[in-house]
Amino acid sequence: MAYGETYLGKGTPKLGFGMMRLPKLEDGSMDLAQIEQMVDRFLAAGFTYFDTAYVYDGGASERVTGKALVERYPRDSYAIATKANAWLGSPTEEEVKQQFETSRERLGVDYFDYYLLHAIQANNAQTYEDFGLWDWARGLKEKGLVRNWGFSFHSSPEHLDRLLTQHPDVDFIQLQVNYADWDQENVWSRRNVEVAEAHGVPYTVMEPVKGGTLAVPPRKVREIFDAASSQAGPDASYASWAVRFAASQPGVITVLSGMSTLAQVEDNVSYMAPGTFAPLDEGELECVRAARRALDESEQIRCTACHYCCDGCPQGIPIPDFFSAMNYKLVFEDEASARSRYRSAADKAGVEAGDCIGCGQCEGACPQGLPIISYLQQVSEALE
Ligand code: SF4
Ligand code: SF4
Repeated sequence: MAYGETYLGKGTPKLGFGMMRLPKLEDGSMDLAQIEQMVDRFLAAGFTYFDTAYVYDGGASERVTGKALVERYPRDSYAIATKANAWLGSPTEEEVKQQFETSRERLGVDYFDYYLLHAIQANNAQTYEDFGLWDWARGLKEKGLVRNWGFSFHSSPEHLDRLLTQHPDVDFIQLQVNYADWDQENVWSRRNVEVAEAHGVPYTVMEPVKGGTLAVPPRKVREIFDAASSQAGPDASYASWAVRFAASQPGVITVLSGMSTLAQVEDNVSYMAPGTFAPLDEGELECVRAARRALDESEQIRCTACHYCCDGCPQGIPIPDFFSAMNYKLVFEDEASARSRYRSAADKAGVEAGDCIGCGQCEGACPQGLPIISYLQQVSEALE
């Protein structure tokens, strides 16, 4: 089933603002002044879609979105998506359902344009069933509290096919789509896009730049893009290739970029603004295919820094920070930076990679299916 002319997202600009990696001040609080500037620039460039979640930054993401966006702009000039989470922190059914009211209070809105069951994957799907959350979310739409409902997803195409068959009335879903994960086991970007298309269900895209890693890819990938010609211009950023690749897929409502600085907003809007965005042409697609092959040959830890693994770690290990440090050694061959970043993260958390006790909690929570325990051993041997 292809997407018709009236599919949800037809008129939506193809860049959305992911409120998951917002800038923070030294004390760890949200940098409201910069976030307001980012929101202003994003809206002024013609974009409208903001994506947050009940669990992002312990609620600070929703609260700051309320301050920077809802308190400063008319409600009908933007769309807000947020999500109910049934697994992080092991909430009860009542606590999950209460998240909806809490999200409304934090954001200061009466309704959500998009509401999602959050991060459904193999090891938590049953909880969403057991708590009756499908009927609950459907009911929110029937009451007019939610304009569109759906779910975000980190699992196999077979699982996605089952869910869309069981719940054919979802308005949309959210998928991880990027050129690096296009054919990756554990993510299945391409095959999940194909399943969505077969069901005629449109989707928003998360992780188009894979937690920022495709904005600073390995040297071989950079060389491919440096030598290529891009419709985004002679100085096209590496991130632009990744965002435009995702936005070029059929059925996309919008591509969510988790922007952390005003400079990232400026870069994104320069090639994604309505009337400016051009899907990748065949020459550009060939270039991305070459970049993917180069990426597959390079060693790196494919962590997206989502932090889902951190909450339940009994040792308090800053897993994504350690992996980010390790990637300085693997991707950039910069051992000095890797060691200094590792030391700073370890000292701040008061724990070393080698303090992992191998309990496995983190691996069960990781949407990317990473072998976190063995990676931490590598980090310990290389950087401790
Ligand atoms: S396996 Fe190690 S890193 Fe993972 S949750 Fe347990 S102690 Fe933390
Ligand atoms: S290791 Fe997995 S769960 Fe943890 S931050 Fe990275 S991608 Fe997210």
